[in-house]
Amino acid sequence: MTPMSEGEFKGFLQQANWFMRGLMDENQKALQIDTYQRFDWNQWRGELVFSTGGTPKVVARIQIVGFHSAKSKAWGWAWANPSYLASVRQAGLRAREFGTERAILRLIQPKWEATESDAWAMTALTARLSEAKGAYRCPSQDGFVYMTFSEIRAVSDRTRIFGARTCSHVLEGDRPILLVSRELDGEVLAVCGGENDTAATTRDLPLDRLLDLDPTLTPLADMPDGWAALRESPEQDWTRTQTG
Ligand SMILES: [Zn+2]
Repeated sequence: MTPMSEGEFKGFLQQANWFMRGLMDENQKALQIDTYQRFDWNQWRGELVFSTGGTPKVVARIQIVGFHSAKSKAWGWAWANPSYLASVRQAGLRAREFGTERAILRLIQPKWEATESDAWAMTALTARLSEAKGAYRCPSQDGFVYMTFSEIRAVSDRTRIFGARTCSHVLEGDRPILLVSRELDGEVLAVCGGENDTAATTRDLPLDRLLDLDPTLTPLADMPDGWAALRESPEQDWTRTQTG
């Protein structure tokens, strides 16, 4: 493909911005996003959850585009940042691919000096290229994380924000996690799967804590809800099956 001139790129960014603002207006009208008390996101679940009183109301499936630092006044692409899981870096890779094809340095350089408006422009471009359903930014240490939505919907069947359950055998360090299930209602069950697992041995814990407890759960970040994974030991690979 032929390189894009600076003027062409500017026009492309403007169109992308209209596209993104249009999506944001639509989401606001349909789901009243700014009326919820709080939002939380989790890259392992690949979700941003808007909630009120601890109850999830709207769930968006997210892709992380990048990070803008107020201190260093720089934009950093998520595709170049290994602290984001590969499962949430796919949309940004489309932007890099486009940059490679059309010789646009800002889409290829992992990090560059940028304003917040540049950060939104890169997010809009990524939204356009990945046919996103929305965009958002979340405050983070020293700046904002920019993301696009591949899906956004109102939910009524969720009771917790990023909740998980395990068994007492895992919590007490007696047995490893050998069964992980991503339930259709957003819950994550991660247990030893032994015959002693019962309702009485089940324990609630925050998803973050579960992932800290066993980092070998990380590769299941891209497993959809309604699927479960089994392994015979922590040294072995997960085998996935659809359950829901
Ligand atoms: Zn157990």
